[in-house]
Amino acid sequence: IKKIGVMTSGGDSPGMNAAIRSVVRTCAYYHVDCVGIYRGYEGMIEGDFKEMNARSVKGIINKGGTILKSARSKEFRTAEGRKIAYEKLKEQNIDALVVIGGDGSFTGAMIFNQEFGFPVMGIPGTIDNDIFGTTHTLGYDTALNTVVEVIDKIRDTASSHNRLFFVEVMGRDVGHIALNVGVGAGAEEILIPEENLGLDRLLESLRRSKRSGKSSSIVVVAEGDKIGKNVFELKDYVEENMTEYEVRVSVLGHMQRGGSPSCFDRVLASRMGVKAVESLLEGQTNYMVGLLNDKMALTPLDQAIKGQSKIDKELLRVSDIMTT
Ligand code: ATP
Repeated sequence: IKKIGVMTSGGDSPGMNAAIRSVVRTCAYYHVDCVGIYRGYEGMIEGDFKEMNARSVKGIINKGGTILKSARSKEFRTAEGRKIAYEKLKEQNIDALVVIGGDGSFTGAMIFNQEFGFPVMGIPGTIDNDIFGTTHTLGYDTALNTVVEVIDKIRDTASSHNRLFFVEVMGRDVGHIALNVGVGAGAEEILIPEENLGLDRLLESLRRSKRSGKSSSIVVVAEGDKIGKNVFELKDYVEENMTEYEVRVSVLGHMQRGGSPSCFDRVLASRMGVKAVESLLEGQTNYMVGLLNDKMALTPLDQAIKGQSKIDKELLRVSDIMTT
């Protein structure tokens, strides 16, 4: 392998820049050429490439977002689109690909590998932590810190007015962000897709918390929660059934995806970039680099995207105990 292409694809997450930097510098270290591919698979099909060297990635380790930009490409979902992408890579003599993204981006990489035998390596970049084969995806830790800080602020205003707040956080179909920030910010209840609390038990829990003398309450709701009502409907439901609280809703939204990456994410990105390039140079392909038992580990892409639930049962129990 003489030339590696690196790209970011799908939703962005903090730490993607640190990962790009690591891939580029590891290539430089091993005297392998490196090419940045702009706007994910879309830019690949259009041949939007830029040669990168160790100095092209200066001053980005602390920046959120991705300097290579990200996109979603419909064309890459078609065989014709992927053929064009392959030809563009060949024109540039690119031999292998590091794809920083989520499960969709990995699915695309896997299909590309099957069709053309093109070496691919994935780095999991998403705040949702919904990828199997790593305890942490890139950006997840930063998002947790961002959300905890915001919930602390919401609590200040909630307790001044005896209010109940429903705070909706991201996480798509999984509850990792909700569960962790719920415990970290001392929420009274945490609603996650993995555990359906049910409306009756929610009311019961809120009543109990009121009786125990709490003047304000924060309920963290994962966006993928399956209680059957969205946060605004939950507010109406609780107000109809409980007069004890004034209820407010806060949907945190895209601010959760931004910001300067935490030290943890910067270090993780640096480790993943090195492992991704070294694995490609050793002849490995079709894997994702992850963090397992504090070590870098490779997981086949098809297993990584299956994303079986890895919600921490012990943390669920801690959360139950903390809300008594
Ligand atoms: P996030 O988790 O933040 O959404 P993602 O990587 O899952 O990130 P997607 O939009 O699902 O984001 O996928 C990114 C891109 O990967 C798509 O726009 C498409 O180009 C490509 N892709 C996804 N699924 C496939 C597929 N089945 N075949 C080919 N390409 C795909």
